[in-house]
Amino acid sequence: MGDFVKNMDGTSGRKCVCTTGTKTWLAHWERGTGMTLPDKCCAKGCGNVVEVGAHVREDDGDKRTPWIIPFCQYHNKRPSSESIELKWGVTLCGAAKVDCS
Ligand SMILES: [Zn+2]
Ligand SMILES: [Zn+2]
Repeated sequence: MGDFVKNMDGTSGRKCVCTTGTKTWLAHWERGTGMTLPDKCCAKGCGNVVEVGAHVREDDGDKRTPWIIPFCQYHNKRPSSESIELKWGVTLCGAAKVDCS
């Protein structure tokens, strides 16, 4: 079973403050994980292409910690009350200011 996350509300104003590279959350995810972006959305069973780095929190654990996950627009727009199961083995990237490099 994959991890479950929920979208975070009110994150549209949050900006990546990395000092190098593109200031998008998808580029931030690549920098932070050292991985290449997946082609497809990280939500389980979703075949849509990756469009955004979505701000999510984990269903388990510290719910205040923001993470970035590559999602399609459909999954980026799920209400924050809805649990979204992730594909197995996908990697979350920290999205707090201290996670910007
Ligand atoms: Zn999706
Ligand atoms: Zn950043």
